[in-house]
Amino acid sequence: MLCWLNRLHGALPAPTGRIAHLRPSSLRRRLALSSQRRIPEFSSFVARTNTCGELRSSHLGQEVTLCGWIQYRRQNVFLVLRDSHGLIQVVIPQDESAASVKKILCEAPVESVVRVSGTVISRPPGQENPKMPTGEIEIKVKTAELLNSCKKLPFEIKDFVKKTEALRLQYRYLDLRSFQMQYNLRLRSQMVMKMREYLCNLHGFVDVETPTLFKRTPGGAKEFVIPSREPGKFYCLPQSPQQFKQLLMVGGLDRYFQVARCYRDEGSRPDRQPEFTQIDIEMSFVDQTGIQSLIEGLLQYSWPSDKDPVVVPFPSMTFAEALASYGTDKPDTRFGMKIVDISNVFRNTEVGFLQDALSKPQGTVKAMCISEGAKYLKRKDIESIRKFAADHFNQEVLPIFLKANRNWNSPVAKSIMEEQRSGLTRLMEIQEDDVVLLTAGEHKKACSVLGKLRLECADLLEARGLVLRDPALFSFLWVVDFPLFLPKEENPEKLESAHHPFTAPHPSDVQLLYSEPEKVRSQHYDLVLNGNEIGGGSIRIHDAELQRYILAELLKEDVKLLSHLLQALEFGAPPHGGIALGLDRLICLVTGAPSIRDVIAFPKSFRGHDLMSNAPDSLPPEELKPYHIQVSWPADSEAEKSSLNQPYCPES
Ligand code: ASP
Repeated sequence: MLCWLNRLHGALPAPTGRIAHLRPSSLRRRLALSSQRRIPEFSSFVARTNTCGELRSSHLGQEVTLCGWIQYRRQNVFLVLRDSHGLIQVVIPQDESAASVKKILCEAPVESVVRVSGTVISRPPGQENPKMPTGEIEIKVKTAELLNSCKKLPFEIKDFVKKTEALRLQYRYLDLRSFQMQYNLRLRSQMVMKMREYLCNLHGFVDVETPTLFKRTPGGAKEFVIPSREPGKFYCLPQSPQQFKQLLMVGGLDRYFQVARCYRDEGSRPDRQPEFTQIDIEMSFVDQTGIQSLIEGLLQYSWPSDKDPVVVPFPSMTFAEALASYGTDKPDTRFGMKIVDISNVFRNTEVGFLQDALSKPQGTVKAMCISEGAKYLKRKDIESIRKFAADHFNQEVLPIFLKANRNWNSPVAKSIMEEQRSGLTRLMEIQEDDVVLLTAGEHKKACSVLGKLRLECADLLEARGLVLRDPALFSFLWVVDFPLFLPKEENPEKLESAHHPFTAPHPSDVQLLYSEPEKVRSQHYDLVLNGNEIGGGSIRIHDAELQRYILAELLKEDVKLLSHLLQALEFGAPPHGGIALGLDRLICLVTGAPSIRDVIAFPKSFRGHDLMSNAPDSLPPEELKPYHIQVSWPADSEAEKSSLNQPYCPES
C-alpha cells in the first residue's frame, strides 16, 4: 500500500531504539555524522524513537515511542497510527490495569494526535497484512498520551474520498495530510535538492537571491503592482529574475542559479498560477549547446529513481517543423498523427472551400490521418470535432472515412478525383479504417487548427480505450530556431519578442535585423515534455548598441526603463545565456498530478484566490491612505464594497 513512500525514502536507517533526548556533545557528533550520511535520520531531535512507517520484523522486541495521527480504529481493539512515513497497527490494551491508556486511545477522535510507547511484537499467524509495509508487526502499547484532539473534519483524510477542489483548498492544511500530497511535495523537495547538488556541487553554480520588489519590465507578461509610500510610485513583482541574472553575469558571478519565485498577473488558466517557481539559470561564456547539455545532465541527475531513466541527448526540432508537423511550438511527440501539406494533391480540386483557399497567395491544404479512427470514432465524435474547429477557429474541417471496402465515405467523396485519392493515399500512407481530417487556409492557421484537433482526437481515442500516450513515457524535446519577433496579436503591423527582448539573434541572421526583422531567427530554445513547455531560455544580447536598437527601433519600447541594463552592458558584459525551468509544471508531469495546484503546498484557486485565507482581501480606506491610493469601485460592485464588513465565503 505504501510502496511509494518506501520508494521515496529509500532504505531506512538501522533501528536504534533510542529515546530522542540527546546531550549536546552527542548531538554535535550526530550532526557531523548525519551530514556525511546519505540516509536521513527521521527521528533526530524529536520526541519519538521511530517513525510509523519504518518498523519491520527486524525490530521485534524493541521498545519504541511513536507520534502520529489516528487514521482509524477497529472495534476499540486496534488503532492505525499514521505519520508522514506510513501506517502502523497499535494494539489497544484491554486489561484493567491499562484502563487509562485504553480510554485515551478509544475516546480520541480520528485525526487526533497521540504519542504511544510500547513494544514491537509480531502479529498473530494469519493476521499479517502483506499490503502494508509494517504488516508483519504491531505495537503492544504501554503508555499513551493525547497530544491534541481533532474536531469533526470537513472531509475524510483518505485519498479515495472525493472532495471538491475548493474544499481541499479551503482546508489545505488537512488536504496536505493525504498520501498523494505528501508524496508530491516530498518528491518535489528531493528533486530540487538533487538539482542544487548538481548545479552547486558538481558544476560550481552560485545560488543567489534576487529582489521581488522591482520595477516594470517592458514587454512580456502583465506584472503585479505593489503600491509604495511615495505618491504615484509603484513596485512591480518580477515576472522572472531575467534582468538580475544578466546583471549577475556582468558582475562576474559566472554561473548563477536560483529556485526563484515569479509572478505574472495573467488571469486564470488551468495550468498556470499567478505565483510560480522557476529553476532559474544563467552562465557566462556559453552557447546554446552548452545550456542544452547542462539541462539534460540536470534532469538526468535529479530524475526520481523509480521512473524510467532520462535518455540524453534530447531530440531537437525547429520551430518551423514543430508548427508544420504538429501545429504548435510544444509538440507532444509521444504519438504520431502528424500534419501533412497536401496542397499539391488538390491543385485542381472541385471542392469549394479547398479551391477557395488555394486560390489565395498563402493558401494551403493540410491533412492529418487518425489511424484506425473509423474503428474508434463515432460520427458524432467527428461532428463535435468539426464544430470545435468552426466555433473556435472559424475553420472548416472535412472528414474522410476509409472503409474496409476501400470506399471513401465523406461529404465530398464524389468531388474527389481518382488521382487525388491515390495521391493522398500515397502521401499520407492511409490504410483501411483510417480517418483523414482535411482543412485549408493560410499555413499557420491551418496547422494550428489541426494541431488542436490532433490533441482533441487523442483524448477521444483514449476515452474509447486506445492507448496513444504511454503514461510512463517522458518524451523530452528541444524546440529551436524560433523567430526573434512575432507580429503583435492586437496589431500585426508591429513586432513583439517571441521570447523576451534580451534574446540574441541567430548569428547568421544579424544583417536581416536592419532590412527584414520579421525573418530573423533567434538563439531561443524551449524544452518541451509530453506536449508541455517546461522550460525556455536564450543566448542574450551582450552588446549595448544592438540591445538599444532592438528595444527602441524594432520593439518601440521606452529604453529609459532599461537604462540601467543598457549601461551595464557597456561595462564589459561577458557573452552569456541561460534558461528557466518551470518547476511546478515539471513536478506535475513527473508525479502525473492532474493539476499544478497538486504539487504546490498553498496554491491559488483557478481565479487567483487563496481560498484558505481569502487573499486578495479588501483594505479599509484609512490603510490605503499612506499609499496615496483610493479604490474606484466599478458601478456593479456594490456587493464587493459591502463585503468589506462581511464574513468570508469561499468560491465554490
Ligand atoms: N526569464 C525567462 C522566462 O521566464 C527565461 C530565460 O530566458 O532564461 O521565460
